[in-house]
Amino acid sequence: MIFLRHINFFLCIVFLCSFNVNSQATNNDYVVVIDPGHGGKDPGNRGNGYYEKNIVLNIALNVGSDLTKNNKNLKVIYTRKDDRFIDLYKRAQIANNANADLFISIHCDAHNSNAYGAGTFVLGLHANERNFKIAQKENSVIFLEEDYEEKYDGFDPNNPESVISLVLMQEEYLDQSIIAADYIQDFLVKDLNRKDRKVKQAGFVVLRNTYMPSVLVETGFLTNKIEGKYLNSSKGQKEIAKSISNGIVKYLSTIDAKKLNYNSIINTTKGTFKGDNNYIFKIQISASSKLLPLKSYNFKGLNNLSTINSNGLIKYYYGNTKSYKEAKKLLNKAIKAGFKSSFISVFKDGGLYDLKKYLSEFE
Ligand SMILES: [Zn+2]
Repeated sequence: MIFLRHINFFLCIVFLCSFNVNSQATNNDYVVVIDPGHGGKDPGNRGNGYYEKNIVLNIALNVGSDLTKNNKNLKVIYTRKDDRFIDLYKRAQIANNANADLFISIHCDAHNSNAYGAGTFVLGLHANERNFKIAQKENSVIFLEEDYEEKYDGFDPNNPESVISLVLMQEEYLDQSIIAADYIQDFLVKDLNRKDRKVKQAGFVVLRNTYMPSVLVETGFLTNKIEGKYLNSSKGQKEIAKSISNGIVKYLSTIDAKKLNYNSIINTTKGTFKGDNNYIFKIQISASSKLLPLKSYNFKGLNNLSTINSNGLIKYYYGNTKSYKEAKKLLNKAIKAGFKSSFISVFKDGGLYDLKKYLSEFE
């Protein structure tokens, strides 16, 4: 009897464990961290007397409820759900601790002209003064934080050169961030007819320390009379939230598609092939949701370009060789040209093949 009771107890434990694992897997397929900018003693911009901190909080809460309403396997975490001040580095920490799939920071813009429209940013070097100014405005909040000199390694929001030290950190997630930004921007422009201020790069501190694809949306200008009124309205906030959440869902579906794509990689067993003549090597230099003409001036002077469309994600390749040794030389060339996150891809029978597997078989 004692023995049987033990078995029952053991079975119960096994059952509980497996139940736990399953429920966790379905609840946490995706985690999105939503970051409403500013808060508390930092009102954000006060264009036309509005409060950026309140407007972006409303938009953020709407984005979160849109996402979870329609997707049971999606978990949303907010950096703030009420009117409080949170250091920029803590916002990134929240996303890292949650091991999020995407970090999205939501803001409203301001300008002393009648400028209007929506733009989406990823971390990078600003292409012009205007983009630098937008990041400068959002970064200047660190002056309200205690010990900001130490926390941000002497970073100075007012010095354009200081920004250069920021941009390398997100390099690894840049491709994915751009895809997410593209989708969000697309929905804002096409669904809502917002003026397209495009996907751009600038040095935002809040995007610097996250270990995942990260974007910052400037939803519109509070300083513009018509747009400010729209952003401050419950209708405007709900519509903008819907576009942002649609972009996020489309992005997450792309990641999912990539997973499926990975599983469909051609399986072969070791020793089936006599040599590596069946294999073709190319260098993947970037990926995007948009098709760019394959001209060398679009790719920092590189020639011999090709693409594959992987479930809506366009992967750009440089070079084409049957020799792995040659592929390594091409990789160096691509990196020197400026595609620092390039890597070697191997194809067999027209399909992507697992490079690690190839190396274990032939190298
Ligand atoms: Zn802001």
